[in-house]
This record gives sequence, structure tokens and C-alpha cells, in this order.
Amino acid sequence: MRPARADDATTFADLALCPELLGALSALGYEEPTPIQREAIPPLLQGRDLLGQAATGTGKTAAFALPVLERIPRHDRRGEPTALVLVPTRELAVQVSEAIHRYGRELGGRVLPLYGGQPIGRQLRALERGVDVVVATPGRALDHIARRTLRLRGLQMVVLDEADEMLDMGFADDIEAILQDVPEDRQTVLFSATMPPRIDGMARRHLHDPVRIQLGRATSPPGEASLVRQRAYVVPRAHKAAALGRVLDVEAPVAALVFCRTRDEVDQLTETLNGRGYRAEALHGGMDQEQRDRVMGRLRGGTAELLVATDVAARGLDIEQLTHVVNYDVPCAPDSYRIGRVGRAGRQGVAITLAEPREHRMLKTIERATKQRIAVEKLPTVADLRARRLELTRAALRESLLGDDLDPFRVVVEPLADEFDVMEVALAAVKLAHEGSGAATGDDEIPEAPVGPDGERRRSAAAGRDRRGGRGAPGGTTRLFVGVGRAAGVRPQDLVGAIAGESQLARRDIGAIEIADRFSLVEVPESAAEKVIAALRGSAIKGRKATVRRERYEAR
Ligand code: AMP
Repeated sequence: MRPARADDATTFADLALCPELLGALSALGYEEPTPIQREAIPPLLQGRDLLGQAATGTGKTAAFALPVLERIPRHDRRGEPTALVLVPTRELAVQVSEAIHRYGRELGGRVLPLYGGQPIGRQLRALERGVDVVVATPGRALDHIARRTLRLRGLQMVVLDEADEMLDMGFADDIEAILQDVPEDRQTVLFSATMPPRIDGMARRHLHDPVRIQLGRATSPPGEASLVRQRAYVVPRAHKAAALGRVLDVEAPVAALVFCRTRDEVDQLTETLNGRGYRAEALHGGMDQEQRDRVMGRLRGGTAELLVATDVAARGLDIEQLTHVVNYDVPCAPDSYRIGRVGRAGRQGVAITLAEPREHRMLKTIERATKQRIAVEKLPTVADLRARRLELTRAALRESLLGDDLDPFRVVVEPLADEFDVMEVALAAVKLAHEGSGAATGDDEIPEAPVGPDGERRRSAAAGRDRRGGRGAPGGTTRLFVGVGRAAGVRPQDLVGAIAGESQLARRDIGAIEIADRFSLVEVPESAAEKVIAALRGSAIKGRKATVRRERYEAR
């Protein structure tokens, strides 16, 4: 079965890119252009100016980088740059120049990031050697222009990337000054996640008859999404695989489809998941029909529980037992926000998206376009996971008690029952069963990622927090004993709710939670401990007043 291609599908080859670029894209495992690439690349190759509304995560970097690379001279390279890309932050300067370098490798494109904070000497030497594309923050670009070390005479293309962010960061005057100095006949591209009037003004002043592109108008077919619960987790890139594992453990899907952007990512993630004991299969455009059929057979037959796929490869699949769809990356466009397949034909399901901190804007765009709320939730903690695994063990035992013939095991239990209390015997048996199911493996906490409009700029602050191993609490954390537990029906979210509600402590500042039968342990910032204790003493949890105090024994 060959997945149907959408009628409007365009390949990179259709976009008339040169063979070197096509080779690079294929080597990176990109299967087809994203919507922004499909719309932006042809007019850019024709030399048109472009005003694009697109956020990080849409593939906008390649949308301008590929046309930029098409422009660099094949022979007779001068030392002066052909293109200048202005970006708001040092992180983005590095990221964009790395992307251009990757795409332009076969063309031998020379790319240089310029940003403040880096020794200027190294930048001067690189500029002297000659570059084709400069990716700079406006302040540093202006420094080099003033020193005459960055020459703009040869520029054929100027890109303003994340223009709204640049204005928010106070770069408006710098940008105006730079654009005074660039050749009149250059091509200008402006990308911005939002289009406030100031961006419009900038576009009117510096763009000539631009093509306008706006993403985010797509909507999901009526009714399709309504039965699907949508959730997102914001996770730093390095912890994504672990976060996915955590979410899958807690959700325990019957069958899940996990979408990745590229073939390489599909292969890597499949390998990682299999290494962690899941039964995952890969599906992507690099596989032949026979391989695909085998994969689908294993999924339908229940020997695989996870299908990891690129969007293209999974198009048109309908998997009966699917309960979960996971977007391992924020999709490049709202209309590929994949929830339809779980929600189809009245089936209920869960759609989960793992976003990186810098991609939070794309979540908002998708919310607006699909008119569906996406709840950004806190990743399950190790304690949640343990509680969930114990629950699964209990469910499995219950099933066995109700259905299995247990008589053959009497010979084990009876002699032990003479020697020990039956409760003790049961506890030991449960421990073995629990561990035997692989459910008791060790896990590390996954650090919180900052979410919010300034997520990107808070990243380094978050990294600092992670190193301390705490959750943003200078001065460390402390554990509180709360005298109600599972026997009273307490779940982690009840404790989080009570603490956040009563003490105004932010949810993300509450650390690991462990729930035992008759008590619970909750980690909170030391600085907030007294306030939390006072607040909880004055309130009820699951309708009960509980003892609340600091845990007496720190070491377990
Ligand atoms: P951007 O919106 O430019 O930050 O890109 C988001 C991510 O999508 C980056 O990790 C790119 O490597 C990836 N990407 C861009 N274009 C494609 C494509 N056509 N297929 C798969 N991945 C892509």
C-alpha cells in the first residue's frame, strides 16, 4: 500500500533548486518542502521581495537560505558577501549560519556568524579571508560596517529574520542604519512571527512590491478534532527522547504514531526507543514497499506498539487501534498538525506535541488555526511515573486474580505461608512481578524548560538552574511530609493543585512527589517551605485535613 500523496505535493526538485542543494537536502533526510518553503522559494528564486509571517518551526530558515545559496557565485568568488541575514540573538545567528552551512556544503558556501560577545579579532580575520553569507545581530553588523570590515557593496540579498523580535529588542535604529548602506537593487526578505504596524512600516520602507505569505490559516475538518485531547510539553532538545519515553510510560498507548521531521530523526528515535525497551518501527520515504508492508503488518498484528514516521510516509495511513499521535517536533504548519487520525470516526484519542522552548509561538499559531486549545502541561515526574507503574502492576495482578488458573502456584505459596504472614508473601511476589515487568527501572528527572514569550532568552538562565539540579529554587529544596496518601485516593495532581492553589507557589517550582499508602512526600523550594506548610495545614486534601510537616529523614 503506497500512502497517497496530497494533490498539491511539491518536491524540492519541482522548486528548481540546483543539484548540489538537492543533494544536501536529501542527505539531511528532508523528504519534501514545508508549506512555507513551497510558497516562498519560487518567488525568491525569481528575485521577488518577500514579506512572510512565519514562526520558528515552520522551516522558514531553509525557505530563505536555499535561495540565498542559489545566489552565491559559482566561480570568481570575491571576498565580499553576497547576502546579509540579520537576526535578533546570538543563538539564532549561530543556528542560522549552521543551517546555511549544512545546506551549502556541496556548493562550498562560506558562512560567517557575527554577534556581540565574541572576540572581534577572530571575526576580522574571517571577514578578511572572504565570506559569501554573513549572519549577524544588528549591533555587531553595524560595528563592522563602521570599521569598514563588513562591506555591503556586493550584497544581492538582505534577510530580516524574526523582525518583530529585533524590534522588541530595540534594534530598529540599527536596522534602519544598515539598510541605508545596502545597494538599492538588492532583494529583501522579511520574516516575522507577528505583523504589528511597525513591521508593516518597515516593510513599506524597504521592500519593493513584496510577495506576501501568511501561514496559519488552515483549519482542521469540522468535528474531527473534538474527541481528541491535545497536550503539549515544552522540553529542551537534549531531553526529548527521555521525555517521550516518560509520556509513553504514563499514557501506556495501545498503539501510537510518532511523527518526526526527517528520515534521520525517524531512524535515530526508533533506535533509541527500541534501546529503551519499546517496540518501535520506523516508516519513511527511504524504505521500499516491501519494508513498509512488513512494518504495517507488525503494527496491525500487535508485535509493534509504536510507529515512528515522517509526515510524507504516514500520509493516508489508517491504523485501527491507534490511541495516540505524538508530534515529536512542532509541525511545520498548522495544517499538518496531526490529530486527525486518532480522532477519526468518533474514536477518542490523545494528541501530544513535544515543543522546544523556542517553538512556543508555533503552538499558539496552531491553537489559533485549529481553534482548539492545546494544554501545555508539566512532564510527569519520576514519582508520577512510579505511581503509574505500580498502578499498572496492580491492574495486571487484578486481571490475573480474576481470570487465571493460579492453582499450580499453591505449592509455592503454602509452605511460605507457614513461615510468613500471607501479606508479606504477597508483597514479595508483587515486588518480583513489578521488577520482572521492567517497570522498576531507574529514571532521572527531566529538567523543566522555560515557557513564555521570552523563552529563548531565558534558556541560558534555565541551563544554569538545571546545573544546580533544583527547579529554579535558589537555596535548594526540601521535602514535606503530608499525612494522606493513596489510601485516601490522593494523586500527584491533587497535591500539586492544593499547593499551587493554597500557597501561590508556581506549579513548576514543585519538585518530585512520592505517594505512599498513608502519606506523601513533596519536594518544594526551601524558601517557600514554611508558607506551603501553613497553607496546607489550613486546607483539606481530598476532603481530609492532613498532618503537614518537614520530612524528618532527609536520606532514604
Ligand atoms: P526553522 O523553522 O527554520 O527553525 O526549522 C525548523 C526545523 O525544521 C529545523 O530543525 C529544520 O532542520 C527542519 N526542517 C526545515 N525544513 C524541513 C523539511 N523540508 N523537512 C524536514 N525538516 C525540515
